[in-house]
Amino acid sequence: MGFDTLIVNGTVVTATDTYKSDVAIAAGKVIAVGSNLPRENASKVLDADGKYVFPGGIDVHTHLDMPFGGTTSADDFETGTRAAAFGGTTTLIDFAIQYKGQSLRTAFETWMQKATPKAVSDFAFHCIITDLPDARLEEMNELVREGVTSFKLFMAYPGVFMLDDASIFKALRTTSKNGALVCMHAENGGAIDVMVQQALAEGKKAPKYHALTRPTTAEAEATSRAIALAEMAGAPLYIVHLSCNDALEKVREARDRGLPVYAETCPQYLYLSLENFDVPGFEGAKYVFTPPLREKWHQEKLWNGLKQDHLQVVSTDHCPFCFKEQKELGRDDFTKIPNGGPGIEHRMSLVFFGGVGQGRFSVNRFVELVATTPAKLFGLYPRKGTIAVGSDADLVIFDPNREHTISAKTHHMRVDYSMFEGIRVKGMPDVVLSRGRVLVEDNKFVGRAGAGNFLKRAGYTGV
Ligand SMILES: [Zn+2]
Repeated sequence: MGFDTLIVNGTVVTATDTYKSDVAIAAGKVIAVGSNLPRENASKVLDADGKYVFPGGIDVHTHLDMPFGGTTSADDFETGTRAAAFGGTTTLIDFAIQYKGQSLRTAFETWMQKATPKAVSDFAFHCIITDLPDARLEEMNELVREGVTSFKLFMAYPGVFMLDDASIFKALRTTSKNGALVCMHAENGGAIDVMVQQALAEGKKAPKYHALTRPTTAEAEATSRAIALAEMAGAPLYIVHLSCNDALEKVREARDRGLPVYAETCPQYLYLSLENFDVPGFEGAKYVFTPPLREKWHQEKLWNGLKQDHLQVVSTDHCPFCFKEQKELGRDDFTKIPNGGPGIEHRMSLVFFGGVGQGRFSVNRFVELVATTPAKLFGLYPRKGTIAVGSDADLVIFDPNREHTISAKTHHMRVDYSMFEGIRVKGMPDVVLSRGRVLVEDNKFVGRAGAGNFLKRAGYTGV
């Protein structure tokens, strides 16, 4: 039996097990997991002594090459997947946006063209639906057949992305039958818009008013309404970028009642707070994204939610805009600041450090949050999200003791600032492989644009 690559002496970690083992790779797959696999059969040997071997990270919420507010997110599918690889993430699920009047297929094809020539690792899409006349409901079934098995709907951004409750309900009824999962941006967009207009009329135009006009109650109300609509439709539901305890309580209550409701949070809500707006001048624009930052006490509630399984996934909502020229579009008016922040590169280290390093949860729970549950919820398991014979060899050799200070000076995202500037983490990826090919080794990128494949996903089956 010949191996293309053999990882030796590492501690393999899955969502359920932790054990010393070698991992053998051939033709892009894991072909053996066991002790003392014969090194002489391997073309390449990677020593993981003292390190963990994790399944590659899966980030199910990214916005690469996305038009927004008169500009486009700064990372494309090459720079974005490369930065992700540096951080140990080897699979992305990005969003293909259907604009008003377009077919869902047009959205899918447009984003396939953006990603296919550029992605260095595997990728998939959710389809964002912004316009859903009854005639288009059948298009949802067509996309599901092509492996686009989740749809994102917005309860915020009236006139741009927002769908009314009737359309949301129809979409949920459709997914209850076709095996797809609805991902919901849950904020009460109507009430928020009234608060935004009032702030502008009162001359409150600085970046922090983006946060102050989007209260936690608006997120909790929409979360609760989304859950009710999904319950009536008999459909599962996934709440994206949950940011606050008020909304977390709604998810917890629904799950306690046995409803198939899931939610993700993001590192920015675990590490940053309203206090980040206490910076000079327009600097606060670096923290303008949606939902906004919250009071600091929410952070521990979210960490606890991850520990207790009230929250099931950590994604990034990576949507980078440079401070210069992009964020600056809103210098005189916070409503013109492109919404989004860069995070694709540091998710694994931030969650490992805050979760495992600070004793909040186990290393198995870490793997579950960043890889296994994302794979299971979004139809990629067991091809992705675990280490097992037959799974794709998307693997991360992770040094739990290596320290690193996050900075825009050293990061690989194509953006001129870091949301996490100066935060020191312990635990960093050393070697990152995608389908058996090394993407990052010795701090160098050795992968290739276009090597990533589109992943046709299976339907929702629960976790
Ligand atoms: Zn997003």
